[in-house]
Amino acid sequence: MTDHQFLRELAARYGTPLYAYDLAAVRRAATALRDDVPSGARVYYSLKANPHPRVVEALRAEGCEAEVSSVGELHAARAAGHAPDRVLYTGPGKSTGALRAALAAGVRTFSVESPTDRARLDTLAREADTVCSYLVRLNGPAGSESGSLRMTGAASPFGVDVADGAAIRSLLTPAEHTRPIGTHTYFATNVADEKGLLAEFEQAVRTSAAVCRESGFVPDLLDLGGGFAAPQAVPGEAGRHPGLAEAVRGAVAAHFPGAGDAVRLAFESGRYLVAAAGTLVTEVLDVKETRGRTFAVLDAGVHTLGGLSGLGRLRAPDARPYRLAPAAGGPLPTEPSPVSLVGPLCTPLDVLNRSADIGDARTGDLLAVPNVGAYGLTASLVGFLSHPLPVEVVHEAGTVTSVRRLGLTETRP
Ligand SMILES: *Cc1c(COP(=O)(O)O)cnc(C)c1O
Repeated sequence: MTDHQFLRELAARYGTPLYAYDLAAVRRAATALRDDVPSGARVYYSLKANPHPRVVEALRAEGCEAEVSSVGELHAARAAGHAPDRVLYTGPGKSTGALRAALAAGVRTFSVESPTDRARLDTLAREADTVCSYLVRLNGPAGSESGSLRMTGAASPFGVDVADGAAIRSLLTPAEHTRPIGTHTYFATNVADEKGLLAEFEQAVRTSAAVCRESGFVPDLLDLGGGFAAPQAVPGEAGRHPGLAEAVRGAVAAHFPGAGDAVRLAFESGRYLVAAAGTLVTEVLDVKETRGRTFAVLDAGVHTLGGLSGLGRLRAPDARPYRLAPAAGGPLPTEPSPVSLVGPLCTPLDVLNRSADIGDARTGDLLAVPNVGAYGLTASLVGFLSHPLPVEVVHEAGTVTSVRRLGLTETRP
């Protein structure tokens, strides 16, 4: 059975819009990334890219740890079989309630973003009668500024500014119920060219080394973040990182002289690990010609894909779907005819692509948007217009292993 037929069958069985997640693609990406990072380095999967527990479970089976930023993501990590005491809990705004729940669940490693964040964690760790570890998240210069001596990053709500020496020194000193074990940097995302990515990691090592040296702190763990790129909603394949392991090992040797292998390394990735696994199947509900333009109205919109762009703050996702071959066979028309792909929501911001070339779109066609396993449903405006959420189908080797449809529920007091 071809992929086209398989997706068409899923659409017939479960309806559209439909997200199909292929676990084989998840495993391939995890194997590739784990081969590319220095041996022994940890790879954290950032659940915000796709918190589906079966996806997280496949990554766990491939040796990826869990990085979570909310109680919901922690719940998904546990549902996927992650032991809470190995989970890394991060994020710039951790509420008392969330930290209390994480500690009660057994999470013992956090990324701390400010003195306030550490103080809150320390208080709650005391309340929970435990001691926990944390990484200090740094806001430092980007790799592209690596030639510069300027030691401040751009203004950012993330991390502690490396220019704030007093805050850094205080955070690199143990408190009563919390102790620092290393640093956390995450300076860039979706850096497609390997040289740029390596420059980011080298800068992350340099910045971490500078703050550690200044505070007389010896780190156990350097979490160097990520930035591993992958195509989003367009055809294509993510690249490999053949120079990564050597470049990072070299940077650690240069900037932490004498530390040898004592410093453990960690990387983080969301999109690289899951982007390729996801395909969104959507039906063309209507095709309209108006003033020289063609609009295809789909049942998938910014409530389904690319929701952050529905806020009008980012570009439309520029999705480039392909048409699923008709069940009856026969060739697809190939003549170019640009069409605006819009969703069903009552807002002009509901656009998946202002001008896609998908051939002659017709009502009833099924389109498949590739490479949407990361930041697909999870980054969408699921509550807007109150359509049912898309169904999510997990499959591997042609067998469906999970079907779910999330809902927004009302609780009565
Ligand atoms: C979002 C995020 C990631 C994952 O980013 P990707 O671009 O999906 O790899 C990793 N670390 C932190 C701290 C993040 O906020």
